[in-house]
Amino acid sequence: MTYAITQNCCSDATCVAVCPVNCIHPTPEEQAFGSTEMLYVDPAACIDCGACADACPVDAIFPVDSLSAGQKEYAAINAAYYEGRERETAAGPNFHSWGEPSFARSLPSDFAPIRVAVVGTGPAGMYAAEDLLLHTNAEVTLIDRLPVAGGLVRYGVAPDHPATKGVGETFARFHSHPRVRMHLGVEVGKDLTVEELAAHHDAVIYAVGASDARRLGIPGEDLPGSLPATQFVSWYNAHPEVPPETVGLSAERVVVAGNGNVALDVARILVTDPAALAGTDIAGHALAALQDSEVREVVLLGRRGPDDTACTASELLALAHLPGVGLVVDDHDPRTGAVLDGPAEGEKAALLRELPRETVDWSQPPPPGRRIVFRFHSAPMEVRGHDGVEAVRVTAAAGDREIPAGLFLRAIGYRGVPVPGLPFDESAGTVPHEGGRVAGLSGSYVVGWIKRGPSGGIGANRTCAAETVGTLLADAVAGALPSPAYPAKAFGRLVRRRGRQVVDARGLAAIDRAEQARGREQGRPRIKFDTVPALIAASKGRGLRSSR
Ligand code: NAP
Repeated sequence: MTYAITQNCCSDATCVAVCPVNCIHPTPEEQAFGSTEMLYVDPAACIDCGACADACPVDAIFPVDSLSAGQKEYAAINAAYYEGRERETAAGPNFHSWGEPSFARSLPSDFAPIRVAVVGTGPAGMYAAEDLLLHTNAEVTLIDRLPVAGGLVRYGVAPDHPATKGVGETFARFHSHPRVRMHLGVEVGKDLTVEELAAHHDAVIYAVGASDARRLGIPGEDLPGSLPATQFVSWYNAHPEVPPETVGLSAERVVVAGNGNVALDVARILVTDPAALAGTDIAGHALAALQDSEVREVVLLGRRGPDDTACTASELLALAHLPGVGLVVDDHDPRTGAVLDGPAEGEKAALLRELPRETVDWSQPPPPGRRIVFRFHSAPMEVRGHDGVEAVRVTAAAGDREIPAGLFLRAIGYRGVPVPGLPFDESAGTVPHEGGRVAGLSGSYVVGWIKRGPSGGIGANRTCAAETVGTLLADAVAGALPSPAYPAKAFGRLVRRRGRQVVDARGLAAIDRAEQARGREQGRPRIKFDTVPALIAASKGRGLRSSR
């Protein structure tokens, strides 16, 4: 029996580090790392020790013979990665041999502890903090704009992906680390300036993500009922800045622009049986709205063909296993059929090829039941309606076509937002940098989506953080970090002087306890507080009352 990596793989390579026989690839040292959708166990080399499964932060690795019905394909998917691949050593399965352990990021033993602020407590910030805390004696100040930690782990991962949310527990171990000070509910660029933060630390790492949504620039984009998918994601995840009334689900059809993983997340949540979501940490208002929802059909618009579908194969496979939901390909454009009937290779093409095809008559209401329609070679041109969305005009093989719909979500990607005081590349929506060091600003660094743009899952941030922390430590050893102007305790005093209701590690733990207690009452993992005042009240131990 061997192990296989499945849908939730976060590619952060924790499993690679603990595998005693190097049977998980690509490793961070291999060229393919970061370009594959997931990591794979070599069945010919796996010794069935289970170390990878124990170490996996997102519970994605299982013995092949215990894979559930929806996961069975992963035995073949793992094995396929190794087919026809040459191993480096004839004798064994390893692509590379174990070298001497390297601790390249340790500071010299006589190095005085440096003080590093990490702005943003999502995966990118937490991988950077983890690296610093595990490999150096640095003191870390964790800062977040919201009064609760987690970033996209808390507010981006879909509620029906609880295993992925499990990586949050790995990060939470560092929230109460003795060398961590936490100040949640503080916005850099508003409550504190970049200069003030720098003056209190040897270095600052910005891990502020990409909190805005890209725009299509088409007429009607701002009509009521036309929303960025990111807002819909925040809505079902109880983000305190997205109120319950943001989303209405009174229409039978929803059109989504894009077919990346965010598009698949929103489509799946819209058509999943709400009973299956009732045991998750989905926002109460979203669950209630989904229980009353009229939505029966979600149309995913891909502006290119099926061979350029942006989602990962594992998310597409999961969609195909969604109980009670049909998947269909709109056959409106002969190029779609040509690709699917042609030689296109890969898991996604294979999955799409198996779906029924139909030339959808958009003048008719959706058929009975719930379904997702993949429509390729079709870009949104206009959102039409008077007081709200009534239809979306899209490109079609012969000119254009109107698809009646009551909700339009654009899942065309996130976009970084400038931090006042930091340089910003408007076209890329990122902060210009060299190896993570902010261009022209010594002592300032970036990591995650604000560094490399909004692509890649949670685990991609681990190697991204390793690069940034490596640059920072090299600068420290080279004496290139500006010294802080104030003693360590002065920063806490500065934050309190600004009069903000700041949540510390103890307050965060109180929020966590209160949310879990509320969840237990309803058989759910947690019920999140969904307003800033409720989060702050919970941090002070007044957390069991209703949040809105
Ligand atoms: P994405 O993967 O970049 O997909 C964006 C989609 O929008 C693509 O289909 C793209 O089409 C389309 N698009 C872009 N501009 C457009 C335009 N002007 N008109 C029409 N369509 C347009 O972005 P995402 O879905 O926001 O995901 C961001 C990252 O987060 C990805 O790396 C994703 O894998 C990750 N993520 C992962 C998970 C998960 O693992 N479950 C969940 C959520 C997000 P083109 O391909 O033609 O550009």
